[in-house]
Amino acid sequence: MLVLTLPDGSTREVAPGTPARDVVATIGERLLRAAIAVSVNGETLDLGTPLRTGGSFRVFTERDAESLAVLRHSGAHILATAVRRLRPDARIGFGPAIDDGFYYDFGVDKPFTPEDVEAFEAEMKKVIAEKYPFVREEIDRAEANKRFVDDPLKLERIADLGADEVISTYTDGPFIDLCRGPHVPDTSYLKHFKLLHTAGAYWRGDEKRPMLQRIYATAFWKKEDLDGYLFRIEEAKRRDHRVLGKTLDLFLFSQVSPGSAFWTERGTIIYNELTEFVRERQREHFLEIKTPLLYNKSLWETSGHWGKYRENMFLIHNKETEELDSSLKPMNCPSHYVLYSAKKHSYRELPKRFVTFDVLHRNELTGALSGLTRVRQFQQDDCHVFLMESQIAPEVQFLMDFILGYYETFGLTAKLKFATRPEVRVGDDAMWDRAEQALEAALKSTGKAYELKAGDGAFYGPKIDFDVEDSLGRAWQLGTIQLDYAAPERFDLQYTSEDNTAHRPVVIHRAVSGSFERFIAILIEHFAGAFPVWLSPEQVRVLPIADDLAPVAEEITKKMKAAGIRAHLDARSDTLNYRIREGEMMKVPYMAVVGKREAEAGTIAVRERGQGKKQEIVSVDAFIARVVDEVRTRALPLKVEAAG
Ligand SMILES: [Zn+2]
Ligand SMILES: [Zn+2]
Repeated sequence: MLVLTLPDGSTREVAPGTPARDVVATIGERLLRAAIAVSVNGETLDLGTPLRTGGSFRVFTERDAESLAVLRHSGAHILATAVRRLRPDARIGFGPAIDDGFYYDFGVDKPFTPEDVEAFEAEMKKVIAEKYPFVREEIDRAEANKRFVDDPLKLERIADLGADEVISTYTDGPFIDLCRGPHVPDTSYLKHFKLLHTAGAYWRGDEKRPMLQRIYATAFWKKEDLDGYLFRIEEAKRRDHRVLGKTLDLFLFSQVSPGSAFWTERGTIIYNELTEFVRERQREHFLEIKTPLLYNKSLWETSGHWGKYRENMFLIHNKETEELDSSLKPMNCPSHYVLYSAKKHSYRELPKRFVTFDVLHRNELTGALSGLTRVRQFQQDDCHVFLMESQIAPEVQFLMDFILGYYETFGLTAKLKFATRPEVRVGDDAMWDRAEQALEAALKSTGKAYELKAGDGAFYGPKIDFDVEDSLGRAWQLGTIQLDYAAPERFDLQYTSEDNTAHRPVVIHRAVSGSFERFIAILIEHFAGAFPVWLSPEQVRVLPIADDLAPVAEEITKKMKAAGIRAHLDARSDTLNYRIREGEMMKVPYMAVVGKREAEAGTIAVRERGQGKKQEIVSVDAFIARVVDEVRTRALPLKVEAAG
């Protein structure tokens, strides 16, 4: 007999081979109706699966995250059922659930058209209405080979199965698939789904194998979740920084320098405002330095990059030795160590925080480059702290406050991840114990929730990563605080302690934005291009309603500029509506309309971005004071265009 232990500690004894459904029935009728699947010792099984082992037993309903993957994978079967009905020639590959939905791969002679996909979706609705149960059958290899004789991809899969593996098939109505499961009880469980797009995909990801047609889809338990998801993918497309970067004229890329952005005068304003903001926040407690971009290989030999990282560096040819023996720096750390080592440091100077905005280069393959998120040239808000081990906890606390405060300015929220010692690492266990304890103590003292990523630390020390969530709910890994015990050894870093002897400091690597390039990409998408006033390349557009008001409008523009506002005059003879629409397209936060009455009264009619046709008549001076204040406080837009 198998002994199953339920979450409440009670047990059930059943004969091997009993379907999971029968066990659920002993717990309760209502639970059986709500059950989607079960878990035995952490393995998800469907209700029809005969149980083979005892152990912990849980029932999954719609409320458990695990059941969504079961629904989605079942959706893949339903998709294949529909495709086979309409295209009997389609050979079937794999159909797994993925993060946001599911897909199924088909071998077909000509690619699916959008019309095909539409027809498949309609056919799926029929399969769902027909409410076919997913029937599991366990068969032997000979039988399996017979059943899938027309599906070479499945035959290949069967050949790969180990001798003692259970071979199972699932049938829903007319369709049979080789599959381990689990699935929902019948096809009617799939209610809210959508086929999204098709793409070519090599069989088993191998480019020497045939190209299959992959249909991507998604499914949810609730209609509002599906709608929210579809809205978010549309929004993500609309906000794509590569598209907005063009429309808003912020940056461009050229084949003459792949992966390195050309920043327009408008994009450069954003870049500079960001660096200036970081500079301002760092002025009091950090030391800004500049170090060379070009280094001999000896530095990279000391740091270990020459052996492990060389293929990602841009190597430089040496005229005298005819060798590629120097490189552009791919990271700042070693150069900071060189500067630190050039002088003696007393314990009283620690922690010492070097920061830099130097240009970095990494030799990414051209195929991997993508907009501003994957580039070859970039700048980081990079910091290296040299400190005594006893200073780690307060220092980490200080750096965390700094990082979280920075994200808040943009309305971004961060999730913290604590990554501990990996398998391959330097240093002894005592060192790791101390480092992890110090880092965790600092984390705990913030009172913020964090996720433990055991074994995910760097080889030289544990770290805290900051995953930032944007207004579309997408997570981006940005900031990091990494303890490093290895670099001080390699570079023989020292400080002089109270008793006048030499000691090793610890190094902390800290980044906040990651790279400015990637951070700007995230901001563009987060704000959908509608930047806060302080970041907006153009803050106010002044629009005289008629030609004869242009001189007054010009005076007003000058006055704004004198107050430090990025104001532009648009006195073109196009209609006011046309000029307003253009300003809206460029996401200018304020448009100041100058009419006859206003000109006489020293006022302007202000239209605020996102407020439609609403106008507010204010005095020029009051308006200037307001904008200056918004820039000074780096105020966020009233509402960041959020999704869902
Ligand atoms: Zn399946
Ligand atoms: Zn570093």
